Amino acid sequence: MQGFEYPAEPHSRRHGPAGYSDYSSYRDWLRDEFTFRCVFCLHREQWYGRPGTFDIEHFTPVSVDPLGKCEYINLFYACSTCNTAKSNLLGVPNPCTIAFGDCLRIRTDGEIEPLNEDGKKLLDVLRLNNRSNVAYRSRWMRALESLRDSDPELFAEYMGFPEDLPDLRCKRVSFNTKPEGAENCYFVLRERGELPSTY
Ligand SMILES: [Zn+2]
Repeated sequence: MQGFEYPAEPHSRRHGPAGYSDYSSYRDWLRDEFTFRCVFCLHREQWYGRPGTFDIEHFTPVSVDPLGKCEYINLFYACSTCNTAKSNLLGVPNPCTIAFGDCLRIRTDGEIEPLNEDGKKLLDVLRLNNRSNVAYRSRWMRALESLRDSDPELFAEYMGFPEDLPDLRCKRVSFNTKPEGAENCYFVLRERGELPSTY
């Protein structure tokens, strides 16, 4: 169902900011980059409803590569549950090089089925099939399914973009390898009237 399908292609980065000395300065870039949802479990900012529940995940841990601490390509947007589960582990499949849609399939009962070895590794490391994660996912799937027909407005709120879209054109950044990304960020799409009501 909508919102519970992993991408069919590896994630291709749209932004390329560089030069911040504090990695948290990349937060808004990462929010836009990963469409305001956790790259690992697909849970969305709109489902939590309050700020502070999403983290910046260092794919290669800082303890292994201190230089990667503020390197954009090493940073992902993840919910704090997945970020905590991944912790300092190495060898986790990288969503920018591997299509998670080839690895994982979310079933209608909320469980996730691994489709290959990478999928098994993701489930194992991120504990995506533990009892509380499955129960949480299943509850959201049932609620959204029901809202789609009974309350389309609320459904669109949950499945749409957050109100506080960042205007990446206004971000001060010392270097940006992909300036066209900011010109096409979701804030700009909304200005142009091109933002879809749900995604
Ligand atoms: Zn997550």
